Amino acid sequence: MSAEQPHSFMHSVKRMYDFAVSKMDLPTGIAELLGECRTVYQVRFQVKINGEYQVFKGWRATHSEHQLPAKGGIRFATEVNQDEVEALAALMTFKCAVVNVPFGGSKGGLCIDPRAYSREDLDMITRRFALELEKKGYLSPALNVPAPDMGTGPREMALMADIYRTLHPGDIDAAACITGKPPEMGGVEGRTEATGRGVQYAMQEFFRHSEDIAAASLSPGLTGKRVVVQGLGNVGYHAAKFLEEEDGCLIIGIIERDGGLWSEKGLNVESVFAYLQEHGGVKGYPDAEYVADGNSLLEADCDILVPAALESQIHEGNAEKIKANLIVEAANGPVTAEADEILRQRGKIIIPDMYANAGGVTVSYFEWTKNLAHMQFGKMGRRFMQSRAESAVDALEQVMGDKFPEKLRQGFEKEADELNLVRSGLEDTMCEAYQEIREIWHSRDDVPDLRTAAYILAIGRVAHYYTEYAL
Ligand code: GLU
Repeated sequence: MSAEQPHSFMHSVKRMYDFAVSKMDLPTGIAELLGECRTVYQVRFQVKINGEYQVFKGWRATHSEHQLPAKGGIRFATEVNQDEVEALAALMTFKCAVVNVPFGGSKGGLCIDPRAYSREDLDMITRRFALELEKKGYLSPALNVPAPDMGTGPREMALMADIYRTLHPGDIDAAACITGKPPEMGGVEGRTEATGRGVQYAMQEFFRHSEDIAAASLSPGLTGKRVVVQGLGNVGYHAAKFLEEEDGCLIIGIIERDGGLWSEKGLNVESVFAYLQEHGGVKGYPDAEYVADGNSLLEADCDILVPAALESQIHEGNAEKIKANLIVEAANGPVTAEADEILRQRGKIIIPDMYANAGGVTVSYFEWTKNLAHMQFGKMGRRFMQSRAESAVDALEQVMGDKFPEKLRQGFEKEADELNLVRSGLEDTMCEAYQEIREIWHSRDDVPDLRTAAYILAIGRVAHYYTEYAL
């Protein structure tokens, strides 16, 4: 991360990294090593579209290979550039380390507006990009395993997996070359919802710690909390939906590309999402007030703000005006380093990206191990566990001479199928990581916030690997 521009995303990551490093006792060379990406690959390739050749430019950066494969998504967006991809790759290293997922960090991007192309053309472009990545070892079950990110999803992952499989017909582990595939292509149940689900688990865990709730000057419990969400993409949609439907939050604001929606009584996320899918925007949605300057809702009166769109959305220009006491970074890098400082001074609490949105890569890890094991989670034990739970309930009922209340019985007999196993594995991971981060935050006077604590935890883990085991 050397060539950073002032106020760029990389500049923010670098500043936050340096700040954390200044609180650690790291060998200078290791601090320097982790301060930049290890390799960056840039590629340009051509695709014939409607009889004309078009040239596309993309990148794949690897920040750390202390564990292999290196892991991280591929985004399709017009804003993609090398600087951004490198900063995101660094975040991936730290994200994996924070949740104890044994991967290095990598990230890729293609400079493209995916909505400007037909499905067929986009398929061709995706395949071509996959081919270029594969040629250099950036699509490989052992070395570098991409995943979805902004502008990509299960379909793109399936196409890329198909390229790898075609080139390596003898590789029995071919499916593990990429994660986020549709379940019928070797994906895992619950991957699509995973990042949003992880955001929900992170917030639930935050609300289990009275000291942390008090630090944010909030009342206990997620129920009834007034939440504003920026971005109803895969992450924002799932996070908002679960918070509304399962935790009783009021989603009072949703910000999208074409403006924002506001409703004091709470928006129905599913219905806003359906409207967005059908109309391509939120303007005209009934049952809510439309706000043309959507981003002004970032500054609206609410308890919790969940930026789930682009980076650098909260910056020097609006940080003073943010009213939410808790900011949950569902997106990568939504708060600039300058805004981070302003918000900290104003007593705002931020649940940082490297932890808050780590649910995606956590479930990617489950998918990767599933692919290497060649077996669905729960396949062998599900029936056995089910009948054991039923026997236990029957035995208890006999001894008690009474029936189990239906809700208790359901809890006991919850099926150990893939989706439930993935969710419980994710919940466990998110809870444990939060506890480790907050422990650093609360136990050290020189650690002012959760972000610095998360960096210290992550950098410490990666550095330990280099100083103890690496060549
Ligand atoms: N793109 C997601 C992220 O930024 C997921 C990465 C992965 O699953 O490898 O965390």
